[in-house]
Amino acid sequence: MMSEPTLEERARRERTLAALARAVEGCRRCEIGSLRTKSVFGDGDPCARLMCVGEGPGETEDRTGHPFVGRAGELLTKMLAAIGLERDEVYICNTVKCRACYREGAKLRNRAPTPEELANCRPYLDEQIALIRPKVILALGAPAAKSFLGPAFQITKMRGRWYEGPHGIPLMVTFHPAYVLRQTGGSEREVKRLVWDDLKAAKARLDDIERASALPSEAPPAPPDSAPAQTTLF
Ligand code: URA
Repeated sequence: MMSEPTLEERARRERTLAALARAVEGCRRCEIGSLRTKSVFGDGDPCARLMCVGEGPGETEDRTGHPFVGRAGELLTKMLAAIGLERDEVYICNTVKCRACYREGAKLRNRAPTPEELANCRPYLDEQIALIRPKVILALGAPAAKSFLGPAFQITKMRGRWYEGPHGIPLMVTFHPAYVLRQTGGSEREVKRLVWDDLKAAKARLDDIERASALPSEAPPAPPDSAPAQTTLF
């Protein structure tokens, strides 16, 4: 098996992430830094092999301070379980750490983060990636993909392929769980099938990397097919 980071290394990463989360909590580079209830830094294993990056917090995330805890988050948890990963063994975060929103009467409504908000928040994401150094990054949805791959990225045409992410980390893009939730009927089945393909590819790549980095004497025999045995969709 791939060598695990030492306990000291894990503790160092936890401390560094906690300090960075405090910096984010105090950040007011954008106006949304003053509109938000809580900043949403990121959750999960500081030594995770897989990092999932979404767009930005919604209402539930803003209230709780944790990423992907609303309906889209529940689906993300199921998607991860479908490839044999517990939520707490991956690292989950967003391209922006504050809820991008605007006022409509007494209510705050979600909106897409502006390019300026994305740029302001990017150093925090970069530091998370540099510290955790996941083996694979899974970008969820077009805004997250664009933040890595540029504004020309088109999710329907370009998802499901491998790209080189920060630090040369393999990057896969799939549809955002909230988009999956908006589909119905045949379209829902089709989108779920595509997401399932992407998830299996990400898991297979993780397994390949793990096998390749195993010591020869410890290397487990390669299974005939590295896709998860599970055949049902999430
Ligand atoms: N959508 C996102 O992109 N991120 C979250 O944390 C929740 C919903």
